[in-house]
Amino acid sequence: MTDCLFCRIVRGEIPATRVYEDDEMLAFKDIHPKAAVHLLLIPKKHIATLADAGADDAPLLGRLLARAPQLAREHGAGEGFRTIINTGRDGGQEVYHLHLHILGGQAMPALIKY
Ligand code: 5GP
Ligand code: ZN
Repeated sequence: MTDCLFCRIVRGEIPATRVYEDDEMLAFKDIHPKAAVHLLLIPKKHIATLADAGADDAPLLGRLLARAPQLAREHGAGEGFRTIINTGRDGGQEVYHLHLHILGGQAMPALIKY
């Protein structure tokens, strides 16, 4: 058991608009959407950051990524979408339970200007 916010969402202790769930992952709408479509896709297993994922987690992370296009399509981001994983302090991570942002439903601005 952990007090982690997203673990609590997994357990249903905190409400969230759940859009996909299976035995190992959960997707729900971001509470403060940064784009027309903004979903969060998380493993149910608590992994704090991408940097904490071990080699054993690679298949799970692969299945997480592979799920993203279907979720994007189903939620109106069929013309393309952006996936982001913020990692650690300098990565701007706020919630320390690994999550994949799925952003779309609009043209996304450039992240970095070269
Ligand atoms: P991070 O900055 O850690 O990559 O992103 C955390 C995301 O979680 C933010 O986009 C934030 O809006 C979202 N978030 C934080 N608390 C909650 C919550 O209680 N419910 C939902 N659905 N999203 C949350
Ligand atoms: Zn957690």
